Amino acid sequence: MSLNNFIPLSIPNLSGKELQYVTEALTDGWVSSVGPHVDKFEKEFAAYNGSSYAIACMNGTAAIHVSLIICGVKPNDEVLAPNLTFVAPLNAISYCGAFPVLLDSDWSTFGIDVDKLESFLKNETFEKDGFTYNKTSKRRIKAIIPMHSLGYSVEMDPLMLLCEKYNIDVIEDATESLGTEYKGKKTGNSGKLGCFSFNGNKIMTTGGGGMIVTNNSEYAKLAKHLTTTAKTDPIEYDHDSVGYNYRLVNVLAAIGLGQLEQMDDFVRIKRANLLKYKSKIDILDGLSIHTEPKNTTSNYWMYSLVLEKGYKHTVRQLVDIFSENKIQTRPIWKLMNSLPMYASCQSYHCDISLEIYNQVLSIPCSTSLTDADIDRVVNVLKSL
Ligand SMILES: *Cc1c(COP(=O)(O)O)cnc(C)c1O
Repeated sequence: MSLNNFIPLSIPNLSGKELQYVTEALTDGWVSSVGPHVDKFEKEFAAYNGSSYAIACMNGTAAIHVSLIICGVKPNDEVLAPNLTFVAPLNAISYCGAFPVLLDSDWSTFGIDVDKLESFLKNETFEKDGFTYNKTSKRRIKAIIPMHSLGYSVEMDPLMLLCEKYNIDVIEDATESLGTEYKGKKTGNSGKLGCFSFNGNKIMTTGGGGMIVTNNSEYAKLAKHLTTTAKTDPIEYDHDSVGYNYRLVNVLAAIGLGQLEQMDDFVRIKRANLLKYKSKIDILDGLSIHTEPKNTTSNYWMYSLVLEKGYKHTVRQLVDIFSENKIQTRPIWKLMNSLPMYASCQSYHCDISLEIYNQVLSIPCSTSLTDADIDRVVNVLKSL
């Protein structure tokens, strides 16, 4: 869909029963922090994702923060994270007083390169009292946050084996991969906990929102407890630990129910549109559309245009050229070790993440995209 001839990068599709469910919530007075839509959204989300438990919360960053707390990440611990990511997981690590250690990505998944992770663990860490410590900083490495970039899954099986061996807890940042399958299983189910986001640009949205999934009943109970102010009594104001007001409000959960019903359609449309782009762009010199890595059936949330090394225009030049044509595109995230607050973090041979940053551009991917929109994007590239 183009608005006044403008093609946005990614806009929500609210064409299902969202309005009906929100109207129900408003009519019944359930607008705030509890309500039947929250409970139903959690149940249906868990069923969709093949997870035993799902706990709704106010956004994806809060989901990651609470997951780190549940894994026992303490001040001065370290958490392994990708250098190429949206900034949220690193901020969540910082909220815990812990330090990120930045790992490189690979070209097939755009996520953590598991071979490099293995060489980091072998060469840069030592074992003490059953935990893994960083040789350089002497800090304990408590957890890792593999992030499934743009809907491609990290190679989770070998990553899980390594993390079991080194006693490192795994929290999946699956905020971009709702609907993606790794070896036939939805993402977010391999680690101790998985985190999702329903921000406005994600494959489904509640305006703002998030979800924690887990297959462990203790973690699920703790996640619910910590995201709802750690209350222990329904009448007395009794709380047993530092809690968080990280709830998802009922009226937003109602939107989520309407969105969730459309997830299969969203994934089908995203996959079909990717193939349309691919057939028209891969034949152009120096350009290609990135596709799913082996073992993954991607939700194709975001489409990546890959520029061959030495292509005649930079990613930034292309953003401007598209913008002149009323088409919104964006570079992939700036690398975490180039941001001022994370520049001093240890980073381990992050040369591929730099290549990806320099060569990848996100192009319009809304589910409302028309064939004419796709042709307009392709024609800009043809005219270069
Ligand atoms: C969207 C996103 C999040 C969470 O974002 P919120 O806006 O807090 O819901 C976390 N990690 C990544 C990689 C994301 O893209």
